[in-house]
Amino acid sequence: MLVTTHTMIAATVAIKTGNPWIYIPFAGADHFLFDAFPHFGGKKVGKNFKLFTVIDAIVGISLFLILVHYTKFSVVILFFVCFLAGWPDLVMLYQKLTDTKRLPKFKAFHSGIQKYETPAGIIFELGIVLFCLLLIFV
Ligand SMILES: [Zn+2]
Repeated sequence: MLVTTHTMIAATVAIKTGNPWIYIPFAGADHFLFDAFPHFGGKKVGKNFKLFTVIDAIVGISLFLILVHYTKFSVVILFFVCFLAGWPDLVMLYQKLTDTKRLPKFKAFHSGIQKYETPAGIIFELGIVLFCLLLIFV
């Protein structure tokens, strides 16, 4: 799943509940829970991994800045929540870019839970992000 989608889900729960006892554990579980759902990915997408990573980063950072500006939620807490939801993909990005053999069990686990990757999963992810934006702003 795109980092943007993970972070938007966690940010929405944080903004809507305002309760750290709910949103911090939720953000911690977010990644491993939602990576098991059908999402964008697969071998065809993997060929353009760097391109999609750059697009994901630009969209994710833009949405983060929009949330910071329009919700008045603490930027530090929001960053922490988004980091908590997205860190496994940063580790994966590090592993891919450096071709490291470090953390093989983490890599196997993280890849193993992503059973339902398909290019059409982008529709599901766009739906989630739009739903999150509706919950926050409407
Ligand atoms: Zn992931």
